[in-house]
Amino acid sequence: MAKIIESKVIDTSVSTELEACENIAHIHEKNGRIGENAPKFFVQTFGCQQNEADSERLAGLCCAMGYEKASSPEEAELILVNTCAVREHAEKKALSIIGQYKHIKDKNPAVVIGVGGCMVTQKSRADKLKMSYPYVSFTFDTAAIHTVPSLVLNALRGGSRKFILSDEWKINEGVPIHRESKHMAWLSIMYGCNNFCSYCIVPYTRGRERSRSADSIVEEAKMLIADGAKDITLLGQNVNSYNGGDGVDIAELMHRICALPGDFRLRFMTSHPKDASDRLIEAMATEEKIVRHFHLPVQSGSDRILKLMNRKYDTSAYLEKIAKLREAVPDVSITSDIIVGFPGETEEDFEGTLDILSKVRYDMIFSFIYSPRSGTPAASMEDQIPHEVSTARFERMLALQNKISDERNERFLGRTVRVLVEDTSKSNSGMLTGRGDAVRPIHFAGDRSMIGEFVNVKITRATTFCLEGEII
Ligand code: SAM
Ligand code: SF4
Repeated sequence: MAKIIESKVIDTSVSTELEACENIAHIHEKNGRIGENAPKFFVQTFGCQQNEADSERLAGLCCAMGYEKASSPEEAELILVNTCAVREHAEKKALSIIGQYKHIKDKNPAVVIGVGGCMVTQKSRADKLKMSYPYVSFTFDTAAIHTVPSLVLNALRGGSRKFILSDEWKINEGVPIHRESKHMAWLSIMYGCNNFCSYCIVPYTRGRERSRSADSIVEEAKMLIADGAKDITLLGQNVNSYNGGDGVDIAELMHRICALPGDFRLRFMTSHPKDASDRLIEAMATEEKIVRHFHLPVQSGSDRILKLMNRKYDTSAYLEKIAKLREAVPDVSITSDIIVGFPGETEEDFEGTLDILSKVRYDMIFSFIYSPRSGTPAASMEDQIPHEVSTARFERMLALQNKISDERNERFLGRTVRVLVEDTSKSNSGMLTGRGDAVRPIHFAGDRSMIGEFVNVKITRATTFCLEGEII
């Protein structure tokens, strides 16, 4: 397990919370709850990479409060749920899991349950939890992760339930991080989003864009590398608008991180096509450590729908960016997010999406059926598409993309790829799995002791969803 990363820069708001951590750890100690007897925590995560990164901060705070990691919610005395709100399905799933925690609280009333993330950053959902889930002690919004220790301390002291929306969209440096993996690391470089795509809840649940200082990020990257990280992903909703001050953009930031000594590679996500800059493309073309993978979500292949989505680019501008990227980085792996069934999407609009898949020939896509999000402009647009129509289009799109992915993956046959061994394969524990520059997982035989190391793998088989090979 990776060490707990503790930042050198600690904002005042965070140092107050670290004092609360010490108070809680002291209470546990006084009750003899240390070492093998220490109380346990469980963090349940839904949603995107940003949430996974946030959950590593929650785990860091739990450790600072004297809790040890539990392997199931049943053995935990502190349960934190980090929710997602991007699609209705994610909210329903979170509410269902939170519902199941009632029996844990019934068995042991001392258990503290808190809920955070995008779902509860919407007042209506926080109110729902307050009214209908009486065993939930508190909620915390996406900008208030650092306040969890005070909320836990209040709950342990028998204080009233807290359902606060802070609305303070600040960066809080210095929250300890308990990383899930030693060799792969998330590194948040900015928070929030200013784009207001008409379907998306994120700008409302994560606030306006704010960038961390380049120095703090480079310092964290240094600590991650010293701790054994070999694959670092820079995270933000739109990393292309990163602004670290003094003219430091995402390209400059990546140059600075690449200049750090060590054998590691660097990824970034996500880029908005309207902001994907020539400087970023050039950085990818020139820096060895940057992985040749560009996630550039197009969302739709219809100019009319892109306008309704408020995406601020059209298909020809998007295709121009792709051409530039392929010219600069010829073997780049390109992936995309696509939404099917946006309000008013006609058969012709949908054909446009199929057409852009055929033109770009993505390595892989992440596809979603449009889900209305209350409070976003698209949710009240006329002509919502019936679910059967969206589902049928979704299936057609997947069939086309699977064929393209199949063909794209074949280009790796016979090549030798440098792979970071990430883990054992989920489907066959006798095999190892990792990734090269492409996003597809690569499976190969090998010893578990290689996990976290770079190896050279010759690709012998390509399928739609993965590659297979042998270590040479
Ligand atoms: N910031 C990133 C971007 O602009 O590409 C992605 C953020 S969002 C969490 C991830 C993806 O979820 C989006 O790219 C979009 O395809 C999808 N998404 C967002 N809102 C959605 C909605 N209401 N229904 C279906 N899919 C949605
Ligand atoms: Fe949502 Fe658009 Fe912002 Fe991405 S860029 S988070 S899709 S509003």
